[in-house]
Amino acid sequence: MSTPCVLVLAGLDPSGGAGILADAEAIRAGGARPLCVPTAITVQTTRSVRRWEPVAHSLFTACAHALLEEENIRAVKVGMIGEAKIAKLIREWLSHRRDLPVVVDPVLQASSGTLLFRGSLEAAREAYLSLAEGGVLTPNLAEAQVLGDGPPDAAKLLAQGPRAVLLKGGHLPGDPVDVLATAEGIEEFRAPRIKVTARGTGCRLSSAMAAGLARGVKLRDAVIGAREFVRAYLSRQAP
Ligand code: PLP
Repeated sequence: MSTPCVLVLAGLDPSGGAGILADAEAIRAGGARPLCVPTAITVQTTRSVRRWEPVAHSLFTACAHALLEEENIRAVKVGMIGEAKIAKLIREWLSHRRDLPVVVDPVLQASSGTLLFRGSLEAAREAYLSLAEGGVLTPNLAEAQVLGDGPPDAAKLLAQGPRAVLLKGGHLPGDPVDVLATAEGIEEFRAPRIKVTARGTGCRLSSAMAAGLARGVKLRDAVIGAREFVRAYLSRQAP
């Protein structure tokens, strides 16, 4: 059997801190093969995002169709979509592949401030929630606030249609807590804070989870494995 592949639909950060280069790194480390189709190209250095443009829809669709036709895709990871139309295209293709686990890491804004979605908050909410229907949604606190239209709440987001929500608490002071909400209930994952600043932790966590799911690992174990991978990545960063 060939190595299971994860189809990544996300933005290109040419500096590699976040986006599809970070996704590819995490997926390889997780024992799967990354197939990366950029939704958008960002003009970006390790310091900040300067601007970005979406990739032509016909080219984006052709890339994904070719891979879906020929490769052993076992999971999908969606990151920055940039605009609502991209979500519509992805939903159309995935409607033929309902067997595939999908991990959706919503991307709205870079840490440096640039908005990474063109459209209203309402449009962003609808686009990301529609992609996460039946899949796994991995928002941070700010993204959960936008998607849930209120204080961050994993259970409330779960009621909007995902199979699971992993609400990441890394931006709260103190030791971070991630909250996993599924039909089985709520589980909290805690660990001591690693005091570094690092980019692309959300991209890496969601991609490592997708790699686990592609290899047939159960969701809870995929979350545990992905958290370990991100903690090892953080430990390698300079303080
Ligand atoms: N660029 C791309 C393509 C991204 O996907 C993201 C975040 O997911 C960013 C930039 C922003 O990364 P950061 O929050 O580390 O600035």
